Amino acid sequence: MTAYDQNNIFAKILRGELPAHRVYEDDNALAFLDIMPRAPGHTLIIPKNPARNLLDVAPADLAHVAQVSQRIARAGMKAFAADGITVQQFNESAGGQVVFHLHVHVIPRHDGIAMKPPASVMAKPEELTEAAEKLRAALKDA
Ligand code: 5GP
Repeated sequence: MTAYDQNNIFAKILRGELPAHRVYEDDNALAFLDIMPRAPGHTLIIPKNPARNLLDVAPADLAHVAQVSQRIARAGMKAFAADGITVQQFNESAGGQVVFHLHVHVIPRHDGIAMKPPASVMAKPEELTEAAEKLRAALKDA
């Protein structure tokens, strides 16, 4: 498998070299909003340690990302009065992966409303600011 690239977009977000709407952070994981959300509240959860994807991540980091994903999913249900949550995770180009730092997509869903196609519409900054505030508030109450 190809080696981890320290200059991928999410590594730059982790180092603070690129901005992101951060919703949760601890010693081992970061959650931030997808810039092209497939539905409002679409969040990406990543380990802080370098990992290209599911195939090379350390099991403890994967477990922690799963735990944070559950917290974000529960917060997303509340913050967006969602009816359900879609979780996606892609590995290598053939598997649909575009950014090569492991990430889990957590997407709040509403009955009868289809997701937008992947990476189709760039969200307005104010929409992302509002969505991040809602998620942070829901996480605080959880
Ligand atoms: P995947 O690798 O799982 O196919 O998807 C990568 C995801 O990263 C896409 O949903 C895309 O919208 C998102 N994305 C790409 N570039 C950026 C960026 O610079 N910032 C943020 N927050 N998300 C990004």
